[in-house]
Amino acid sequence: MQVHEHSMEEIHRCVHCGLCTSACPTFVELRQEADSPRGRIYLMHAILEKQLSIDRKTVQHIELCLDCRACETACPSGVRYSRILEPVRLSLINKRAVSLTWGERFFLFHVFPYSRRVRAALWPVRLLQRLGAYHGLERMGLFRVLPGILGKMASLVNPHVPGQKRLPDFLPGKGRRRARVALFVGCVGDAMFRHIHWATLRVLQENGCDVLVPRGQGCCGAIHYHAGDDRGAKKLAEQNVRSFPVRDLDAVIVNHAGCGAMLKEYPQYWADGDRERYAEFSGKVRDICEFLDDLGIKAPENPLPLRVTYHDACHLAHAQQIRRQPRALLSKIPGLELVPLYESELCCGSAGSYNLLQDAMAMRLVKRKVDRILETGAQGVAAANAGCLLHIGREVRRRRLRLLLAHPVELLDWSYRGVTPPQPGFDVEYRL
Ligand code: SF4
Ligand code: SF4
Repeated sequence: MQVHEHSMEEIHRCVHCGLCTSACPTFVELRQEADSPRGRIYLMHAILEKQLSIDRKTVQHIELCLDCRACETACPSGVRYSRILEPVRLSLINKRAVSLTWGERFFLFHVFPYSRRVRAALWPVRLLQRLGAYHGLERMGLFRVLPGILGKMASLVNPHVPGQKRLPDFLPGKGRRRARVALFVGCVGDAMFRHIHWATLRVLQENGCDVLVPRGQGCCGAIHYHAGDDRGAKKLAEQNVRSFPVRDLDAVIVNHAGCGAMLKEYPQYWADGDRERYAEFSGKVRDICEFLDDLGIKAPENPLPLRVTYHDACHLAHAQQIRRQPRALLSKIPGLELVPLYESELCCGSAGSYNLLQDAMAMRLVKRKVDRILETGAQGVAAANAGCLLHIGREVRRRRLRLLLAHPVELLDWSYRGVTPPQPGFDVEYRL
């Protein structure tokens, strides 16, 4: 089995203390050692040493891992668990011990990574939403009877999309120029959350940043990589590295945690002759909250009288260690009350394509997350990742809750512009 040499190094770093187990969402839910980080490290070590056959049950424990990396945060020995899991998963997929259906392969490799195709695939759902039939059909359970991945996709679509106006190639900063940056737009993020890109552009502009939106960029490659297509992921990485003029930029701005983590880790995935170019690109990648906090923002002036809580997206908190910055930005908004969320760092179950492929565990985790949000008494929840917004949003609609979901940069944008936030609600259509 070809596994990156770092995987073995990481495995040997584990002292089996078990301090990571209580941070692991699957262990917290199932209380099984084999579904904990320590248990999975034992299993993966035994597989690599050929002491354990690759049977269905063993593979299931590894597939059930969300790759949320909460165990990395918890580990006192500094085990970088994803460096064990990801290569092992790739080799299990290559050995066909883990297999995807035809439909799953089609959507994961040929639809999701391309924003235009996602938009085209969503067209029937958007039509139902325009006709006002979406909520009724969703409540009747129509999407559950659609076959396989189609039904799961249809039920995830965010019904409230406030405008899909094309993004400009360039937007000049207001006032004294403080930075020159470029926006990474991604795939699902661009197809379903372009309003968050617009909010990001406006907030950067308000803070004196010139913003480029380079044409020719593509998906970050995370969908391909995590589903076992290393070559497809590298092709997309290459496309991105070529599209951004990083030497002329202060930063490449990303507003979804999963993409940001992937872009920052390119040099780790492909340590061949391209490493230096990838390192130069990745060295400029900044999450929008990280960037704005470093820059120091102009005070937002218009009050936003909302009680809001903040959910830590795993790939922001655990993969990028960004926790303080989004909270610091939110706390600058006048009138906004930020309330703490218990278990805010426990994965909501979205985890890239996990919510499509492991839906039973994904649903258990999102129910737990929404229960915790409701305990805070908040009117809204902020999260900086497309997957979390979609997955939590579906649960909010399923329970017919009046809860506003927003990216932190949207809240900032509303305050800068003096826009009244949309009324929290599962069936509110808003257009800004
Ligand atoms: S991964 Fe870290 S925390 Fe978990 S058992 Fe190993 S050494 Fe302990
Ligand atoms: S990555 Fe997440 S789900 Fe997987 S073992 Fe670590 S904490 Fe558990």
